[in-house]
Amino acid sequence: IVAARKVGKLFGEMAALVDVTLDVMPKEVVCIIGPSGSGKTTFLRCINQLERINSGALWVNGELNGFRRQGDLLHPLGEAEIARQRRVTGMVFQRFNLFPHMTALENIIEGPVHVLRRPPDEAREEARALLARVGLADKQSSFPAELSGGQQQRVAIARSLAMRPKLMLFDEPTSALDPELVGEVLAVMRDLASSGMTMIVVTHELEFARDVGDRIVFMDKGRVVETGPAAQLMASPRAARTQEFLRRVL
Ligand code: ATP
Repeated sequence: IVAARKVGKLFGEMAALVDVTLDVMPKEVVCIIGPSGSGKTTFLRCINQLERINSGALWVNGELNGFRRQGDLLHPLGEAEIARQRRVTGMVFQRFNLFPHMTALENIIEGPVHVLRRPPDEAREEARALLARVGLADKQSSFPAELSGGQQQRVAIARSLAMRPKLMLFDEPTSALDPELVGEVLAVMRDLASSGMTMIVVTHELEFARDVGDRIVFMDKGRVVETGPAAQLMASPRAARTQEFLRRVL
C-alpha cells in the first residue's frame, strides 16, 4: 500500500531523508525505530504529504503522491486532489491535538460530517462505536481537558479511524504520556493491528515493536539501515549501527 523509491527530503542543506526505499503491504504493521533526528517523523509526513519530497517517488494506495498519470505524462495535482490523496491515511501525533472546545464525540464526527459529508446521525452512531472500541464509551461528552493524556490519545485514534483510512500512521503516539498511561494506548493499537489495519508506527517502545510489528525498520541519519521481521531484527540485527542502537536502548 506504500511504495517508497529512493525518497529524498532536504530541509535547506540538511538531508532529512536519503534514498529511502521501502514497501509496506496491506495489513502489515511496520515499526520504525532509530535515534532522534534520523528522519522517522519526516518519512511519515512525506507519506501523507505534510511534507513534499525532493527526489524519488512515493506511491500510496496505488497513486503517485502529488501527481496524476495521463498516458506517459505526469501532471502535478491541485490542492483538492492532494487533500483527497491524503485522506487515504490517518495520522496520530505525539501530541493529541484534539479540538479543545469540542467534546470527544464532536471531535470524532467533525471530519466525517464536514469533510466526508456523512449524515450527522450516522456519524454520531459510528463515533459512539469507535469510542467503545477504544474503551471510552462513557466519555463521549467529555472535553479534552477533562480527559487524561492516554484517554485523549485514544480519542485521537478514534477520530482518525472515523475517516476510514486505509493506512494509519503513528508518530511516537505514547512519548508524551505519563508512563502509567502508555499501556492503554498501546493496547488500543495492538487491537487495531490485530483487526487487520495497515499501520506504520514510529516508536521508542521496542517491546511493542517486537510483539506487534510484523517488520521493523531501523533508520539512522535519514537512511534505512536495516529492515527485517520484528523478532529477528531485535534478536539478531545485522548492521553494526542497529546493534549499537539496540544495545544502548534495551
Ligand atoms: P525524533 O525521534 O527526535 O522525532 P526523527 O527521527 O523523527 O526524530 P525527524 O523529526 O524526521 O527525525 O528529523 C530529521 C531531521 O530533519 C532532523 O535533523 C531535524 O532537525 C530535521 N528537520 C525536521 N523537520 C524540519 C523542518 N521543518 N525544518 C528544518 N529541519 C527539519
